[in-house]
Amino acid sequence: MLQITDLHATVADKPILKGLSLQINAGEVHAIMGPNGAGKSTTGYVLGGRPGYEVTGGSVTFNGQDLLELEPHERAAAGLFLGFQYPVEIPGVSFVQFLREAANAQRKGRGEEPLSGGEFLKLAREKAGLLKMDMDMLKRPVNVGFSGGEKKRAEMVQMGILDPKLAILDETDSGLDIDALRVVGDGINTIMRKPDKAVLLITHYQRLLDTVTPDFVHVLAGGRIVRTGGPELALQLEEEGYEAVAA
Ligand code: ADP
Ligand code: MG
Ligand code: MG
Repeated sequence: MLQITDLHATVADKPILKGLSLQINAGEVHAIMGPNGAGKSTTGYVLGGRPGYEVTGGSVTFNGQDLLELEPHERAAAGLFLGFQYPVEIPGVSFVQFLREAANAQRKGRGEEPLSGGEFLKLAREKAGLLKMDMDMLKRPVNVGFSGGEKKRAEMVQMGILDPKLAILDETDSGLDIDALRVVGDGINTIMRKPDKAVLLITHYQRLLDTVTPDFVHVLAGGRIVRTGGPELALQLEEEGYEAVAA
């Protein structure tokens, strides 16, 4: 599904990714762990096509397509979802409006007709129900006054509606209490643990991996993958630290 080969990228002319290679197949959950400043978020931003993150070498294919050739909205239409640590607040726009626009932008990118209001509400209700989110919450302005857990539940509903092939979640577990962490873990399992989907979890800590068991754990250090293992590698990192394990 995703093939990253010898990826090099710079931020503000500073080389950050220095030969990152990674293959993710459908049905797999991968975790990238690593010390602060290793280039974890940079990896997510490069895959999402964020301006300012310049690819200077290597290639990325997504379901056979050259991902790096695509605009960010085209990547979303192709089935890529990016979740980030700090959800934005959008006063004056309800979550329902926001989600409907996101869903229809994705459909437009695929050459599909937009959903009618009724069709969209049916879809939103189904996904909200699946994730145990109260529809009334979705009528409120995007993330304004939401608790950490509510923001995450809303993000999971968004992911459910967009129904991506590949979800890349960068430190989506950071700063969450146990209940919110469970929401995220259950959400990922409910929406993304399917044979035709894949997940890339970028995380500093292993606790989310107690709920979402990864098939592969990678250690990113110095802009490249320095070690790959199974779920036990995350536990070992937690116990022994990055220096001991990644050196
Ligand atoms: P991680 O997510 O693993 O903590 P990042 O990918 O955020 O690491 O950052 C990797 C490196 O890139 C760090 O040294 C960071 O200071 C640098 N960096 C990230 N964003 C910028 C930026 N916008 N301008 C300059 N340097 C940046
Ligand atoms: Mg960081
Ligand atoms: Mg980061």
